[in-house]
Amino acid sequence: MPRDPEELTETERAQQRAARSASEDLRAAVDSGDSDEKRAAFGQLLQTLGNMDPQSTRDKLHIPDDAGEYRDGLVAILQRIPPNWGRWISCSKGWYPIIIALDQALAAIDPDYELHQAKEKLGGLRYYFRTRIEGAREQMNALIRAAEEQAAATCELCGEPGVRHSNGRGWLMTLCAACATERGYGRIGELVNDLGPDHRGVWRVTDYAGDESIWDLTNGEVSIIDGERYRDATVLALPSVLRSWRIRLTDGNELASELIAAIERIR
Ligand SMILES: [Zn+2]
Repeated sequence: MPRDPEELTETERAQQRAARSASEDLRAAVDSGDSDEKRAAFGQLLQTLGNMDPQSTRDKLHIPDDAGEYRDGLVAILQRIPPNWGRWISCSKGWYPIIIALDQALAAIDPDYELHQAKEKLGGLRYYFRTRIEGAREQMNALIRAAEEQAAATCELCGEPGVRHSNGRGWLMTLCAACATERGYGRIGELVNDLGPDHRGVWRVTDYAGDESIWDLTNGEVSIIDGERYRDATVLALPSVLRSWRIRLTDGNELASELIAAIERIR
């Protein structure tokens, strides 16, 4: 009879927290684009990783610090992960109830199913499993699809109703309005009347002739308008609904849109 997997020790938990915090700092530094900050954050991350021994901790139960009332349900999930896969889940608290209910529903079909990964990816929930029961897979996949749909409508951070958001730098999260504001995320599909430097992200501008252009304000300034098409153009008038955008191309020619019908966030 195999021993039950151990939990992380206090020291190991502290090391994991330090590594997580260092990797969040690095991500913020990469987003900010400041090379001194990037170097410092990268050095910090390497140092925290150097203190850790992933081989010895991989198969221990990584119970999240914020597990709270979901602790037992999460332990049940972590115990399904076979050796060498890494016994952790990679999503935030708002989705704990969803994956716990999913685990219980799957276990009702196959009490011995194996979990390989439960994680957030591109703002959605992913749950990878294995069953040895002939013919059970389809039914279990249907349960997972339903849980993924539920997660797609639930703030990953707090569990309130949510939709897909982006921070304009390629990071996607399913969030409620309050958590999105706090984290600097904007709703995909958000409509605005005027584009300004505060509207970080990537926007699709459609005019009344039906023409579309893509405006990238990721860094608070227009970096690319429509990829290669208008590269290095000078912006004379930013898009506003019921007005025209105007740009000057590198060859000196000016270009203007028809009256703008809609400005929509696509990233
Ligand atoms: Zn929230």
